[in-house]
Amino acid sequence: MDSEFIKRAVELADLDAVRVALYHNTDDPEIEALPRAIELDDGDRELLIDKAVSWLEKNAGPGMPEEPPLPRLRKLMNLAMKEEMGDLEFEARQDLAAFKPFPWTAGWTGTKPDLPEGFKVAIIGSGFSGLAAGIQMELLGIPYVILERRSEPGGTWSRHRYPDIRVDTISITYEFAFEKNYPWSEYFGQGREVLSYLTHISKKYGMHENTRFDHELKRATLDEGRNLWMLEVDTPKGPEILEANVVINAVGAFANQRTPDFEGLNDFPGPIIHPSQWPDDYDYEGRRIAVIGNGSTGVQLLAPIAEKAEQVYVFQRTKQWISPRPKYGDPIEPEIRWLLDNFPGYWNWWRYMAIAALFKTHDQLVPDEEWQAKGGYWNEVNDQLRAFLTNYIHEQTDHREDLVDRLVPDYAPFSRRPVVDNGWYRALTRDNVELVTDPITRFTSRGIETAGGTLHEVDSVITAIGFDIVQYLWPADWIGRNGLSVHDFWSKDGPRAYLSMMVPNYPNMFMLYGPNSQPLSGGTGLPIWYQVWSGYAAQLIVKMLEEGKSSVEVKPDAHDRYNEALDQEASELLLMQDIGAPEKNYYLNQTHHRLQMNAPWYGPEFHRLCTEVNWEDIQIT
Ligand code: NAP
Repeated sequence: MDSEFIKRAVELADLDAVRVALYHNTDDPEIEALPRAIELDDGDRELLIDKAVSWLEKNAGPGMPEEPPLPRLRKLMNLAMKEEMGDLEFEARQDLAAFKPFPWTAGWTGTKPDLPEGFKVAIIGSGFSGLAAGIQMELLGIPYVILERRSEPGGTWSRHRYPDIRVDTISITYEFAFEKNYPWSEYFGQGREVLSYLTHISKKYGMHENTRFDHELKRATLDEGRNLWMLEVDTPKGPEILEANVVINAVGAFANQRTPDFEGLNDFPGPIIHPSQWPDDYDYEGRRIAVIGNGSTGVQLLAPIAEKAEQVYVFQRTKQWISPRPKYGDPIEPEIRWLLDNFPGYWNWWRYMAIAALFKTHDQLVPDEEWQAKGGYWNEVNDQLRAFLTNYIHEQTDHREDLVDRLVPDYAPFSRRPVVDNGWYRALTRDNVELVTDPITRFTSRGIETAGGTLHEVDSVITAIGFDIVQYLWPADWIGRNGLSVHDFWSKDGPRAYLSMMVPNYPNMFMLYGPNSQPLSGGTGLPIWYQVWSGYAAQLIVKMLEEGKSSVEVKPDAHDRYNEALDQEASELLLMQDIGAPEKNYYLNQTHHRLQMNAPWYGPEFHRLCTEVNWEDIQIT
């Protein structure tokens, strides 16, 4: 490559990742002394770029550095963020740069024992988390089967095919740490690219051949006498019963879409489409369309639909903070691809820096009473973000008062799941798009009527109204000890679990992405958590097998204690306060007014809980 190309590559790159990767390769004290990229003055920036270019001119080539010894790794991580991180943080973050071949996976503690005859793990679902569990079983050499109701892997990424669907966290963080330097074509992969990534993972690592597609679990019943789960499964050949010693549920949180219940639905003759069931032949060109909902889905699909439709009515129930993301929708430039392939360590440190951007999220969520006493709303960083986003709404809508007044929320950002802007605000300024904020009263034969009696005439309706996230494990039934159905067990105040994974009376059963699982903070993307939770389940299975036992479960009192602490921790958070609009938040169980979707803990704390097993809480028999 000529020097000009290399220079362009470095200039386009994440300069913090360049700085650390260069130091990793050279130990150059001048590079070590440089500040973070945002603080570089022109001279320092030039120094960094020149040094990187001249090093690459001589040394560029494929490869990845070996994992540095821990003290050096910690030094490099501190250098990346120019911080002195604590032990808890180091523990949680040390694999983020992914030097190890298979970070976050558990192994045998000694020689692999002989497994009981016919021993088998069943994994339900082959989306991101099912594949994480599958690779863990592959590495341990434990026989397993993945039951997948669809005809291909990918889970939510197989199911969702609406226009402009893509990840809204940068792809380098929304990937498995064991697949190094996957050649994403865009910074934020489109839905179909995420699907081909997951298919690639499934095939490359052996999960595909262990998957039974078109197999849907209907009911699981514990055979207490034999410590086996009897799985009633619908298959293309009819119902079957399969036996498994351990079941790992990887069915996702977005498996059950909400059903609209507006008055007069049956009077409307046109299609009513939930984005989960997007028809391949759905034609919106030149049509009049209603889009209900402004969550991540409704926001993502508006702009491409507005470009082709004759008229779009956007029905917004609650105002939403919608943020810009740099590089959203952009292709990865050939220069960056070259850098990723030829600058050893750049992929690792770019990954680290991309995730590090989330390290401070927790700070957004905790109140600052002193700040509030001085007239602040929640805390300083959150109020700053609020000002930035308010300004963004003004800019994007060309300061149109009729829009701004109906768009700027009256609650703090981060009260709900952050939504990313892919041109939603701009779309609202189009002549063929109208924002409707009057509540929907009913559907009629011609369209949607809102309070005040206005009729919005449309040909079809897109109900981007979200998912029933409280229906964990639904619609399958789970019958544990003494014939107890898990849905009955949870009827008191919604789904609960120990560490989001285990439920008393349901031995040898784990959930990934279960109740109160998604960390609100702490700087790691969800695919890492799928691996962390799979690794936790694997540690328990390993111990059970190494001890020659057949049953592992959480002790009931440990489950209850954990949940009491969880409720206490959650009650402090922004989401649960009146100013966090808790009544409109899908993270919360609205029937029981409790946090449902998230782990309230500081991320690194939850990481420790999910990686260092507290064996006192676990019963192995
Ligand atoms: P959602 O966040 O739950 O949003 C549902 C929307 O529908 C909200 O605006 C809600 O209004 C509105 N709504 C619900 N019932 C309504 C009713 N009866 N009348 C009027 N409006 C109604 O669902 P989602 O947008 O499908 O997103 C779900 C999750 O999927 C996301 O949070 C994210 O985790 C994931 N997702 C990710 C991506 C990505 O990464 N690219 C893309 C899409 C989705 P209220 O606000 O008033 O409740």
